[in-house]
Amino acid sequence: MLDPWGSSNPVEDEDYERIKREFGIDDINEGLRQKLLENRFFRRKIIFGHRDLELVFKAIEENQPWAVMSGIKPSGPYHLGTSTTALEIVEFQKMGGKVYYCIADIESWEDNGISYDKAEPNAIDNVADILAFGLDPSPKKTYVWRQSKEPIVKEICFKVSRLVTQNMLNAIYGEKTFGLYLAALIQVGDIVLPQVREGPQPTIVPVGIDQDPHIRLTRDLTRRYYKKFFLPGATYHYLLAGIDGSDKMAKRNPNSSFTFNENLDSIEKKVKEALTGGRKNKKEQQELGGEPQKCMIYKMLMYHFEENDEILADEFERCVKGELLCGEHKARCVDKVLKFMKNHQEKKGKLIDKARELLGID
Ligand code: SF4
Repeated sequence: MLDPWGSSNPVEDEDYERIKREFGIDDINEGLRQKLLENRFFRRKIIFGHRDLELVFKAIEENQPWAVMSGIKPSGPYHLGTSTTALEIVEFQKMGGKVYYCIADIESWEDNGISYDKAEPNAIDNVADILAFGLDPSPKKTYVWRQSKEPIVKEICFKVSRLVTQNMLNAIYGEKTFGLYLAALIQVGDIVLPQVREGPQPTIVPVGIDQDPHIRLTRDLTRRYYKKFFLPGATYHYLLAGIDGSDKMAKRNPNSSFTFNENLDSIEKKVKEALTGGRKNKKEQQELGGEPQKCMIYKMLMYHFEENDEILADEFERCVKGELLCGEHKARCVDKVLKFMKNHQEKKGKLIDKARELLGID
């Protein structure tokens, strides 16, 4: 069972096909991918599946509005794993979608016991990060809210709740606290909010596959309660494992990732210690070639830090042929990561006031 709040139970590589088949997630076929080549997450096949993405293309072709909705639980700074979704929504905004971005502070209370007040600085920090990633904050292109302060999401939650039974939630999420069930219903409100505010329109929610239970619950309740609305769609990306070789990026294991607030020395150390797909020694690497598909250096570059597709493809090929050695490649990756982070942290520092304004915090 997929657990959207799970700190254990990671999704293994071999699980993806089964999960897609079991829950009816469509592949990104080549025709669709070709239309999406400007978006690097599709181009690089990091996003592998979707629900109802075609509706977005129809809206684009017919010059109709469409929404991209996402959010973050303000329980701490962005790290390498949680930032994937933020980068994806910036890409969708460039394609013409209006961004709806939720600060899930009710969920951070229910899941992590963080009060709304304590969540506030994290919320400001998270929004400043996404602005530094390139989000256009103009009101025509972006709407940001905190769950605890947004009456629409609570109202949707109350309305759809009369269609929900304990058995339903148990079947989707397994046995959880009532607070987490409530957070799931609040999240239905977040995902439906764009259509309540601005009328029926295709909505796409970029997620990691572990969040699919929320998408299924929302689609089911939208179908039954909001009959004139589009069923919210989704795109699914592969989850990044821990850079230290652990199963997943987790706060309880600081070496598994780094945050976008972290000092550069600490980031450098973690990247230098990241798991590679290299062989035991130079001789073996040259004879057998490396395994970039297992390598966290390669994945960090692919997801975040290498803009240029040709360089990425060339490094993949040279690694497989044994022409590229890990020490040399790691050093290049360290340079890129540090340059990106330095630039990001500088940009972000100047965006704190804008983040406060978007969140309505004085
Ligand atoms: S050469 Fe680069 S891509 Fe290949 S295994 Fe080593 S670090 Fe990874």
